[in-house]
Amino acid sequence: MRYPALKINSETVLENASAVETLCRLHGIEVWGVTKGLSGDPRLAAIYMKAGFVGCADSRIDNLSGIKEAGVRARLQMMRIAMPSELEDIARVADVSLQSEVSTIKALDAVCSSLGVTHDVLLMMDVGDLREGFWETEIADAAGELRDLSGGVRIRGVATNFACASGVLPTPENMARLVKLRDLASGVMKIDMPVISVGGTCCLKIIEEGLAPKEINELRICEGVLLGIDTAFDRDIPWLSRDALRIEAEIIECRDKPSVPVGETGLQAFGEKPVFADKGTRRRAILAIGRQDVNIDRISPMEEGITIEAASSDHLIIDVTDAPGRERYRPGAVVSFLPRYPAMLACSTSRYVEKIFD
Ligand SMILES: *Cc1c(COP(=O)(O)O)cnc(C)c1O
Repeated sequence: MRYPALKINSETVLENASAVETLCRLHGIEVWGVTKGLSGDPRLAAIYMKAGFVGCADSRIDNLSGIKEAGVRARLQMMRIAMPSELEDIARVADVSLQSEVSTIKALDAVCSSLGVTHDVLLMMDVGDLREGFWETEIADAAGELRDLSGGVRIRGVATNFACASGVLPTPENMARLVKLRDLASGVMKIDMPVISVGGTCCLKIIEEGLAPKEINELRICEGVLLGIDTAFDRDIPWLSRDALRIEAEIIECRDKPSVPVGETGLQAFGEKPVFADKGTRRRAILAIGRQDVNIDRISPMEEGITIEAASSDHLIIDVTDAPGRERYRPGAVVSFLPRYPAMLACSTSRYVEKIFD
C-alpha cells in the first residue's frame, strides 16, 4: 500500500448512483454521470453505467478519451464549451457537447461533416449564474444563425448550470425559464429540441421535492454521488452516503511541542499569517501529504479528537492530543479524512496520490 491515497469504495458509489438514478427515473429524468471529480477515471465511468446512467460527462476531452480507450461502453458528453482548437477531438470522441458560441458550433458542424460523423449539441443557456451560456435576449438571433448547419451537428436541446460561478440556486422558476428558452430556440429553428439538461447536484433538491418542470429530462451530477453532499444548498443529502471516498495519509513524525511558535513570526510559506492560541504543550503529528495534494480547508478528520493545525506543500500537521487512543498516532500509522469537492479534485489530479477503488 502506498500513501497518500484516495480510496474509493465502489460499492458505496454504486449505491449512491443507483439511488440518484431511481429518483430521477421516477421524475422522467435521465442521468449523466460526471467523471471530472475523479479526473475521468474509467473505473468510475464503469460504475456509473452499472447504475443505469445514460452516459458519462466530463469537462476535459482527455478524460473522455481515456474512458473510451478503456473500453467503457457509454455515451460521452463534453461539458465544457469547446476550445476552437479542439473541435476535431470533440467530433471524434464525444457523442454530445454543450456549446454557447455560434462560431464554434458552425466550425464544429464543418469538422463533423468532413469526418462524416453526426454530433449532438445542447445550447448552453445562462439563466443567471453568469458563467457560459446564451443570454435570453440573444437567443432568437443565435438560433436564426444556426438554422443552416450542414448536418454534422444536430441541435438537440438546451442545458444550463446552477451554482457554478455565482452560486445562483436552481428554483422551479428558473428551471421553467430554461424550458421557455428552449421553446423560443426550437420555434426559431423550426426543429424539435427534446433535451433539457440541468446540473449539478443542487438540482437534486428541486427534483426530490417534485418541483422540477416536467420538461426537464436530463441531469448532470457528480458531487452528490461521490460525496453525498450538496455544497450549494449546504446540506448532507440524507438518502446518500457521505463516506464513499476517503483520503489516507501516513504519519512521519509525532511529538509533544508548544502550541505557540518560538521566535518572531512573519508570513508562512503560502503568504499567510497564522494566529496561535496558547493551549500549552500539545501532541502534534505530521502527515506526508500537503497542499500540492489536497485542499486542507476542505477535509475533515474521520477520527474523533483530531484537529488540522497547519500545512505546507508536503506536510500536514494535526493535533492528536485529545484523540481517544492517541498512542496509536506514531510514524507509520495512517489517518483518514473525508474530502469535500475541492479536496477530492486536488487529490485526484495530484500524481503523488494513489487512487484505489475497492
Ligand atoms: C461539474 C459539472 C457538473 C456536476 O456538478 P456537481 O455539482 O458536482 O454535481 C454538471 N454540469 C457541468 C457543466 C459541470 O461542469
